[in-house]
Amino acid sequence: MKRVFKSIIVFIIIVLLSLCGVNIISGNGGEERNSKINNILILVNRKNGLDKSYIPMDLTIPEIPFSDEATNEEKQVAGIIKEPLEELINEAKKEGIILIGNSAYRSYESQEIIYNNRVRDEGKKSADAYVAKPGFSEHQTGLCIDITNKYRYFAEGTEEAEWLEKNCSRFGFIIRYPKNKKRITGIEYEPWHIRYVGKDVAKYIYDNGITLEEYLEK
Ligand SMILES: [Zn+2]
Repeated sequence: MKRVFKSIIVFIIIVLLSLCGVNIISGNGGEERNSKINNILILVNRKNGLDKSYIPMDLTIPEIPFSDEATNEEKQVAGIIKEPLEELINEAKKEGIILIGNSAYRSYESQEIIYNNRVRDEGKKSADAYVAKPGFSEHQTGLCIDITNKYRYFAEGTEEAEWLEKNCSRFGFIIRYPKNKKRITGIEYEPWHIRYVGKDVAKYIYDNGITLEEYLEK
């Protein structure tokens, strides 16, 4: 009888342990979701979208100059890029180049409004050609920012665009939509849109003249 009792106790302990095990596993799942939100190599393009609930970790406003048009939401970046971005802007200034933040984080809801307004004003065809659908804008990651200059004219050939192209990888950023890569990125050349990927990856992408898509495929 004592033996049977002992077996029952052992059985109960095993059941309890396995229940704990289940809890531990689901706990890890939670951590995994968080690390995904902190994943600096997350790929967002026309084929890879983000969930409506995706919000970057530690959204914060960096200490850099912003254009007057930037909304408070757009001034925010994921916490992880605050310092690298400030370093980039400060170093540019030391070298005589004034860079201004224009638009960084955009929530799913904001993108939805932008997209729907475009559809209303110019039709779905125009909206689909020029505006990312909600969930498919990299700006929702908080890992990128559109830069401008004091003339609000940030185009190829300006000294600001040239400086950014040559130097942003030193701070962990890449020109996300380079020239002649539309067939891969799905987006025309945008010299103003920089994306944080960390210094090592940025250097690799810059040195090899590739895109984030090509880097992730290798
Ligand atoms: Zn952009």
